[in-house]
Amino acid sequence: MSMPRVVTTIAELRDLLDAARAKGERVGFVPTMGFLHEGHARLMRRARTQNDVVVVSIFVNPLQFGPAEDFAAYPRDFDRDLKICGDEEVAIVFNPSVDEMYPEPNPVTITVGPIGDVLCGRTRPGHFDGVATVVAKLFNIVGPCRAYFGEKDAQQVVVIRRLAKALDFPVEVVCVATVREPDGLAMSSRNTYLTDEERRAALVLSRALNKAHELADRGETDPATLQKVMAEEIEAERLAKLDYAAAVDPDLLTEAAEGDTPILLAVAAWVGKARLIDNMTVYPASSRDARTGTSDVEASITKG
Ligand code: AMP
Repeated sequence: MSMPRVVTTIAELRDLLDAARAKGERVGFVPTMGFLHEGHARLMRRARTQNDVVVVSIFVNPLQFGPAEDFAAYPRDFDRDLKICGDEEVAIVFNPSVDEMYPEPNPVTITVGPIGDVLCGRTRPGHFDGVATVVAKLFNIVGPCRAYFGEKDAQQVVVIRRLAKALDFPVEVVCVATVREPDGLAMSSRNTYLTDEERRAALVLSRALNKAHELADRGETDPATLQKVMAEEIEAERLAKLDYAAAVDPDLLTEAAEGDTPILLAVAAWVGKARLIDNMTVYPASSRDARTGTSDVEASITKG
């Protein structure tokens, strides 16, 4: 294992990646907020197989946290992160300061519009504008690349795809399937906030999704019914507080139409101090047959 090169300035990262592309090397980019886990590692591994140089950014972006959210408390462990990146043969870790990214007090920001107001955006107003702003900056800094995002944050993937398209970034957005703990809990840096008891309670998210998924597999495609089943499951867990349970169109994030189209099942709940999210996509029988042989959801999600 060789340690990645740590870069803290925008100018140096630009120079390094321009030089790599000038030699014909393809750049793979994995944006993160650090406190890395196997979900992030999976993104890096995918990037490694499809590109010559992998760059991981580690930046806890203040713009995407609300005033009452966990920006200050967000877990950080740079040395451990660096080791994980080294194990995944990441060439460069970009770790800018907040001042490097936002030197002015009132930065210009991006407004994503209504897509950022639904699901997580209802509880986290401005969150997706903050995400889009930092990702737009990172895309401009990194330059032409493939960029890897986790399906766990499904709304984020929709927002980033739209951003890349709307602002003509020379970036191919790749979506990677959610990595779960053996018991089904979606991996998240925020899982570290959970006590043992809360950790057990947090399983209610994937359980609710699985329940609705099974129902859909048996032919139930009424979004209201699927939503109700998920909400009831989460509300029955004493240590969880439901934020939302939704069955929506995977691209538009509006309520799913009943019938022969994929449905994105998405849930969010607070468990102790952690606000956790999870999602699964349900494919109707007809499109499921067409999917046979794909190893994860990438084939169906990278179409946009
Ligand atoms: P974060 O550091 O939480 O901002 O996440 C950085 C990237 O890793 C985002 O694209 C996330 O969607 C992705 N990611 C986080 N957790 C997982 C997971 N369990 N499986 C797959 N991707 C993930």
